[in-house]
Amino acid sequence: MPSLSDIVVYIDRFLRIRDVGDWDNALNGLQIENSGRVRRIGAAVDVSTRVLTDAGKKNVDFLIVHHGLFWPGLQPVTRLLRRQLQLAFETDMALYGVHLPLDIHPKVGNNAQLVAALGLKSAQPFLEEKGQPVGLKTRASLSRDQLIRKLRKALNGPVKFFDFGPKQLRTIGIVTGAAGSEIYRVAEENIDTFITGEAPHWAAVAAEELGMNLLLGGHYATEVFGVKALAAHLSKRFRVPWEFIDCPTGL
Ligand SMILES: [Zn+2]
Repeated sequence: MPSLSDIVVYIDRFLRIRDVGDWDNALNGLQIENSGRVRRIGAAVDVSTRVLTDAGKKNVDFLIVHHGLFWPGLQPVTRLLRRQLQLAFETDMALYGVHLPLDIHPKVGNNAQLVAALGLKSAQPFLEEKGQPVGLKTRASLSRDQLIRKLRKALNGPVKFFDFGPKQLRTIGIVTGAAGSEIYRVAEENIDTFITGEAPHWAAVAAEELGMNLLLGGHYATEVFGVKALAAHLSKRFRVPWEFIDCPTGL
């Protein structure tokens, strides 16, 4: 049975969390410590009362999330934060949060995993954010309809699309999560088809102005890949079972 610190040291290094830039509130790394042993790994996109309750019932004692506890910023330990911490303490659950380092990892990253699920090849990093590229772009020789079908299948859910670009695709850009507001910067990279999770209203207008295909697969749906792949990787390496705690947000 691995110790908490074995696993944490390993992930910190594997995902290069000290080297990858991020928003301060991501607070990448161990966010809640437990008493020091890991018997079951859980993976979830977000941390919430529902996720912690579900993970606790499943005897998870090491929970990995993409969006950690501290996104709302500095706050007193009252109400929901107190409730969440209490749930973790009562079940002796450690929490590990990892945001951009998990989006961009070449193997277990959200982008790399989505590219693989779509059957696309030779993707290259693009779109600088916080000091490093956070998306992947690739040349493509398939039709827009084919790509939409593949994306629906990969995400196992609906895809909202704005088909203002070419029917026969040339270059696809992928940035999981909420990158729709980067559409102008994406267009500068000669990308005709932009896949992301969600976008602000004005991005749909911009897609038409720019003559681009904009495909929105959902913030949650495009970000289930990384935590799952990381948990599966750790499970194999440390011989500990893992499971996915599925709590879709609907966005
Ligand atoms: Zn996200």
